Amino acid sequence: MRVLISGASVSGPLLAYWLNRYGFDVTVVERAPSLRKTGGHGVDLFSPAMEIMDRMGLAERVKAAETGTSSLVYRREGRRPVRVEMSRVFAAVSDRHVEIMRDDLSEILYEHTRHDVEYVFGDSIAEITGDGEVRFDSGSARRFDLVVGADGLHSNTRRLTFGQVREEWIGAYLAVASVPDHLGLDGEMDTTIRPGRMAGIYSSRTLPDARALFLFSTDEPLDYHYRDVDRQRELLREAFAGMGGNVPKLVDAAARAEVFYFDEISQLRMDTWSRGRVTLVGDAAYCPGPAVGGSTSLAVVGAYVLAGELAANGGDHERAYPAYEKEIFAYVQRSRAMALKGVRRVIPRTRSDVLALTTTLRLVNVLPLAVNRALARLGSGTMRPHDGVVVKDYRFTG
Ligand SMILES: Cc1cc2nc3c(=O)[nH]c(=O)nc-3n(C[C@H](O)[C@H](O)[C@H](O)COP(=O)(O)OP(=O)(O)OC[C@H]3O[C@@H](n4cnc5c(N)ncnc54)[C@H](O)[C@@H]3O)c2cc1C
Repeated sequence: MRVLISGASVSGPLLAYWLNRYGFDVTVVERAPSLRKTGGHGVDLFSPAMEIMDRMGLAERVKAAETGTSSLVYRREGRRPVRVEMSRVFAAVSDRHVEIMRDDLSEILYEHTRHDVEYVFGDSIAEITGDGEVRFDSGSARRFDLVVGADGLHSNTRRLTFGQVREEWIGAYLAVASVPDHLGLDGEMDTTIRPGRMAGIYSSRTLPDARALFLFSTDEPLDYHYRDVDRQRELLREAFAGMGGNVPKLVDAAARAEVFYFDEISQLRMDTWSRGRVTLVGDAAYCPGPAVGGSTSLAVVGAYVLAGELAANGGDHERAYPAYEKEIFAYVQRSRAMALKGVRRVIPRTRSDVLALTTTLRLVNVLPLAVNRALARLGSGTMRPHDGVVVKDYRFTG
């Protein structure tokens, strides 16, 4: 049975690995001319995602490539900085956590699959017909039994299958730029926070440079075109005007950076993400909000479950797709709820919210881990959305 996957980042190669292991014939098409290795940002693998890495024999490689960011410094106006141990924060959220650059994770997954899976770079799906014929931008046409969109938040496969689906803006924006490591960061993320704005810089042991990260909230959506990078840099300058410390330097560096990413933080709220022979996985299907919803772990679990259900149902998509959606729907809903809370937590809007955040982080720093975990659990399921996920064992279906 032939499966086409669109997108070679995280969910695409991971799905390809499991489908190949279950005996499917897999092709991955990626729009970029080669594996992306230019920018990217840190992503989080929580407990269930790491369990899947264990089952793929990749946990050690993933761990060896972790960013190594061990502390987070919050700088506030006229107050002493707050320093937080990252491991304590993440331990409250999940029993297991690895932060890794997305491009490093993609590379590990690609290297692990490239001998068994066909990868086609520099192309994209142009049309999917009802009988399984797929036409590509390059002009070629091929026949596949199933098509899976793993092509991210602004998925092309989703647009071709469902038309224009609304991405719900959740009140904030984010920008990431590749910048020189002017602070000589050594396992530290350095941030400056004001009501409604957070600017920071972090690096990874695997990177020669650093990433400037900007998060800010607005009352109304901003007016810009997603291709107009000059306007996006201008909006960034406006949003962070008047902030002191190293923020002007970071904004200048981001304004000059060759690799610059700017987007609204939005959430997909589709109740189903399969139609006919086509389904979606990862951010393309259920992105809860980049940087605030733990979406990488969700993408990993989603891809694993989709492959498992296809194998368990002998490739019958009419049974496998609903089973896949049912299996992860609760996790998707918890992630959406966490993102809505997370966006307000990560970008506190008022002075008292900033104070509440820094006070909480100070407490996390000093309280015993067991107490932090208990408090996180009390903060409803949305504080620990990952650890309740049972990673089903599909190993015997392959
Ligand atoms: C700035 C930023 C910060 C983030 N921070 C975090 C974080 O702190 N923690 C966390 O867990 N997650 C974070 N995320 C989210 C995380 O990156 C995603 O959840 C994760 O990468 C999802 O993987 P995916 O494979 O589903 O999609 P993506 O990683 O988005 O990959 C989609 C792939 O599809 C390809 N593609 C796109 N269009 C086409 C097309 N037409 N044809 C073929 N291929 C196509 C793209 O080139 C890409 O390779 C962040 C995201 C962003 C943007």
